[in-house]
Amino acid sequence: MIKQFPIDGSRDALWMATAVPAPATSTLQEKTSCDVTIIGGGLTGLNAALHLTKQGVSVCVLESKSIGFGGSGRSGGQVNLGLNLSPSQLLEKFPSPAGERLINLVINTPDYVFKIIADNQLQCDPVQNGWIQGAINNSSLDSQIRLAKDYATHGCHLEVLDKPGVSARIGTTLYSGGLHVRNAGSIQPLSYTRELARTAMAQGARIFTQSAVTGIQASADKKDWTVNTNQGQLISKHVLICTNGYTDKLVGGLAKKVVPVRSILIASEPLPDTLRAAILPGEVTFVDKRRLILYFRYDRDGRLCIGDHGPMRDAFRVEDFNGLKKRVLKVFPQLSNTRWDYHWGGRVAMTKDTLPFLYQIAPGLTTGMGYNGRGVGMGTMMGKALADSVLAPSNTATDFPLSTPKSFALHQFHSAGVSMAVKWMALRDHLQSM
Ligand SMILES: Cc1cc2nc3c(=O)[nH]c(=O)nc-3n(C[C@H](O)[C@H](O)[C@H](O)COP(=O)(O)OP(=O)(O)OC[C@H]3O[C@@H](n4cnc5c(N)ncnc54)[C@H](O)[C@@H]3O)c2cc1C
Repeated sequence: MIKQFPIDGSRDALWMATAVPAPATSTLQEKTSCDVTIIGGGLTGLNAALHLTKQGVSVCVLESKSIGFGGSGRSGGQVNLGLNLSPSQLLEKFPSPAGERLINLVINTPDYVFKIIADNQLQCDPVQNGWIQGAINNSSLDSQIRLAKDYATHGCHLEVLDKPGVSARIGTTLYSGGLHVRNAGSIQPLSYTRELARTAMAQGARIFTQSAVTGIQASADKKDWTVNTNQGQLISKHVLICTNGYTDKLVGGLAKKVVPVRSILIASEPLPDTLRAAILPGEVTFVDKRRLILYFRYDRDGRLCIGDHGPMRDAFRVEDFNGLKKRVLKVFPQLSNTRWDYHWGGRVAMTKDTLPFLYQIAPGLTTGMGYNGRGVGMGTMMGKALADSVLAPSNTATDFPLSTPKSFALHQFHSAGVSMAVKWMALRDHLQSM
């Protein structure tokens, strides 16, 4: 079933085959104006568009390809809790009250995403059955126990599972224990993104696809921004840049604040009931606690979707998925005769401090990105924070604190650097799981 030519991470994604249709959009071919221009038609930009239009703000979204073309239409669709830093570490970085607000935002993320879906009746197969993060050894389990205690001091209860507890829920004895987050879950990510677009358009947002932004300039009096595409122009008071792992050289220096790494996914044929009763029987989502994570979930048809790190290029090849399939069989040997029907991948934006950032580049020009693989939940929250930064522009207006992200030194060599780092992380994961 796997194609023998380069695999296109967007076109070949499982989600393309099962998503709701995209709303009809056109290319920007005129000179027009609005209050806020949003660059990037993924879930960050479209959540910002939805919030703003609901407040009566006029919004245009410019997307260089199609809605959900980036990570939003390719992801594993897991709606998880947490950032890479613990609540205590977040408080050190962002002292209260900003730190406490951020921790509350993190804790509320899964419920918030499922509420947006319910309130707006978004047709995107939401499942809120919980998320398990599996510990690969006892020291990783100890760090999860500490994390659970840390969250508990902020009123958030994460259940610590022992080895039998994880084994029963996942269907393998490979993990030493884990954390169970009951309010997390999954969605069909391309449907979620298309439905956000449809709903924002129903509220009055104008969305232009095949409309790559080629330049952004401030007016002489600095009151407006002019955004150019090949065929059109938009003038607005605010511009929000929501391009995450697909950020190009549009704004000087921004691309150096994120390094795009690739994640790849495979999806099985719909599994028979016997296998579904043995593997993730409660349809939780799962991520293991390694440096190079493996993550699983079912889609609505009982296909098991499994993700891993990928190569440092966008055109994937058949052989890129062989290592992933070998890893899968170590976890679930019972899948040795399973057919893998879909193979795809995309870019994940990593940041220097492993946290997303909400960054005001200049007055009226703001960006939110850098989710380090947790953008389904955090991108949704960031979309709201970006909207709030427009609606009440002050440092205290957003639950996500404004910050100035650091750039990666020697960014032009990031492909070689990431490839070396991946080998080093794979070795450390291997040694730790022995
Ligand atoms: C394979 C994979 C698996 C993942 N799994 C998960 C998961 O299970 N859970 C989770 O929480 N996160 C996951 N992520 C991360 C998550 O998908 C992203 O963080 C999130 O979708 C980012 O959304 P976004 O809207 O910020 O960016 P994107 O969805 O990447 O959208 C950015 C858009 O900007 C457009 N763009 C770029 N430049 C321009 C320009 N000059 N003009 C106009 N448009 C432009 C691009 O075409 C793109 O569509 C995964 C990512 C990948 C790739």
